[in-house]
Amino acid sequence: MKTCAAIRELLSAYLDGELPQQEAQQVSVHLRRCTECREIMEDFRRMQAQIRDLPQAEPDREQWGNLMNRATMRTSRGLGWILGVGGVALLAGYGLYSFTRDPSVDTLERIGVWAMLGGGVLLFATVLVERLRAHRSDRYKDIEQ
Ligand SMILES: [Zn+2]
Repeated sequence: MKTCAAIRELLSAYLDGELPQQEAQQVSVHLRRCTECREIMEDFRRMQAQIRDLPQAEPDREQWGNLMNRATMRTSRGLGWILGVGGVALLAGYGLYSFTRDPSVDTLERIGVWAMLGGGVLLFATVLVERLRAHRSDRYKDIEQ
């Protein structure tokens, strides 16, 4: 006859169906008579079921999709912003540049327009640097989550 301690050591393998037939029979005979070991086996069974039902640690396909969408949206929003502002700046710059090429424009006006153009470029560069910095801290925010 096996002791309760010996039976309990076999319970996990018994539940998994890994015991040789003879030993499995000994365990089941013991369980029929011993309430304590039966309760322990029920606990084992519950624990195994809980482990099986645990949600997977890795994000599933749908969650990955959401993550990718968010990253793509953020990138295209930033890109759209830069293209939009860049396009406006380019057009304005080109307009002003052709204005200074006009021979009827006098020197003072020409200098004024070049000053405006330089100011605009400086402003655009400043805003661009700020956007890039904000984008970088956005990424840090993601990592902290
Ligand atoms: Zn027992």
